[in-house]
Amino acid sequence: MKTSAIFPGSFDPITKGHESVIIRSLGLFDSVTVAIGFNAEKKSLFPLELRLKWLKDVFAPYPQISVAFYEGLTTDFCKKNNIQYILRGLRTSADFEFERGIGQMNKNIFPDIETVFLLALPEYNSLSSSIIRDIYRNGGNISSFIPEKIQLPPLK
Ligand code: ADP
Repeated sequence: MKTSAIFPGSFDPITKGHESVIIRSLGLFDSVTVAIGFNAEKKSLFPLELRLKWLKDVFAPYPQISVAFYEGLTTDFCKKNNIQYILRGLRTSADFEFERGIGQMNKNIFPDIETVFLLALPEYNSLSSSIIRDIYRNGGNISSFIPEKIQLPPLK
């Protein structure tokens, strides 16, 4: 059976940390769907279309990676698309505690799913979309924190 995984997130914006986990996972799965989940409680800084375009540009060289957007539960998206694994990255013990709660609840509501974690590379351990947004909003240079292929729009 082919193995497929989803890497869900907001990618507001995508960082080198996300990119690294997704590319490093390619040895584990036949296909990986990088998916932007709609989260009613989270207002994004960058519009959905732009975040999707970034994902498509960054992962264009990898035929095993597809890009998607979904609303509703990640586990429902997995059921519909025959995805068996949820891929996440771990930077800190805080990430672990947060991810454990989500992973155990996902397993509870969809017993066929398994969550797989890859550790962040040390050089990306402090990278987060929220820190990048902060630096960007204040006019700082964020280019070394995001994938080389993408550019954030000029600050208005
Ligand atoms: P969201 O809050 O929208 O889920 P995040 O960027 O916080 O988006 O997280 C998406 C996934 O990416 C999570 O599993 C998170 O731990 C992981 N992640 C975020 N930044 C990094 C990084 N620098 N290195 C490795 N994994 C990361």
